[in-house]
Amino acid sequence: MNTVKTRMNLIVTAFMLFVFLPYTMGQEKLPKIVILATGGTIAGAGESATGSAYTSGQVSIDAMIDAVPNIRKLANLSGEQLSNVGSQDMSIKIWLKLAKRINELLAGDVDGIVVTHGTDTQEETAFFLNLVVKSDKPVVLTGSMRPSTALSADGPLNMYNAVAVAANPEAKGRGVMIVMNDEIHSAHSAKKMITTPVQTFQSPQHGLLGTVIFGQVTFFHYPYGIHTTKSEFSVDGVKKLPRVDIVYGCADMSPDLIPMLVKAGAKGIVVAGVGDGNMPESTLKAVKRATKKGVTVVRATRVPIGTVLLHGEVDDSKYGSVSSMDLNPQKARILLMLALQKNPEISREELQKMFINY
Ligand code: ASP
Repeated sequence: MNTVKTRMNLIVTAFMLFVFLPYTMGQEKLPKIVILATGGTIAGAGESATGSAYTSGQVSIDAMIDAVPNIRKLANLSGEQLSNVGSQDMSIKIWLKLAKRINELLAGDVDGIVVTHGTDTQEETAFFLNLVVKSDKPVVLTGSMRPSTALSADGPLNMYNAVAVAANPEAKGRGVMIVMNDEIHSAHSAKKMITTPVQTFQSPQHGLLGTVIFGQVTFFHYPYGIHTTKSEFSVDGVKKLPRVDIVYGCADMSPDLIPMLVKAGAKGIVVAGVGDGNMPESTLKAVKRATKKGVTVVRATRVPIGTVLLHGEVDDSKYGSVSSMDLNPQKARILLMLALQKNPEISREELQKMFINY
């Protein structure tokens, strides 16, 4: 009798293992991904599915995850609401909070991070994180061009693809990325190039890192520039960053803005110059006066693509300025803020090296 019972028990156990083990193992294998929501059009809502008017940052992260079919099959997901703002209201305060939270999560058992974010300043947040995240694990930013209530909203598929990239082992060591419109961009190279269409992010100088089509990830190469674990910058104990402003160049620009910013307390100024980081002689003289007073000036360009040459029409050693190389003005500002935070007395030569390396 006992032998029959034991046999029955064995058969039942074997059956249970056969049915449930693969399921349990599959669950265990899913990578642990945390979605940190900050707002943006991806969380935006409007009155009409076909109207262009809407407000960013209206939908909660839980509702956003629930709106994406099959997303929970890609990863063991959880969401946290860090802020809910249009990214025109993104701030250094939120950047510091976001970076610290990402470092905390990635130091534990979390395998990757997705950040949902408005597209207006997404490349800035991505580049900031690229310089201060201390992990090789994937950090992926995503957003949308159409609000959640719009016809053909692009947010759900972007979020699905972002999670697929963050959960992909090949994504490790590629720095912070932006995933939108089936494309994977590096934080260094991505630029918002068009105001409203879904193909807004482009990497015109260095090209795409890869593609992601309905969750199928293909990587082409690694990003340009030093990032994450190799970066010398850190947000540990940092509560604010030094003030750095951007001055936009144009024909016959007034040199007045530069001394005004110096007076207002700017520690650094990025000039979005014309062409190859050029500016009129009067502005160059204002730059020289500013650098003599200890304010750091970086020459970038208002041209969307290209490198600001070290030895072009402007001789930086004459004016005390530094070239932004291929960083656009808004990313040059971030590198300059972090450089000045690390060393307020940084030399022109040291700073130039940073712009060459990052
Ligand atoms: N203004 C919005 C934002 O940056 C635009 C967007 O998300 O596409 O939050």
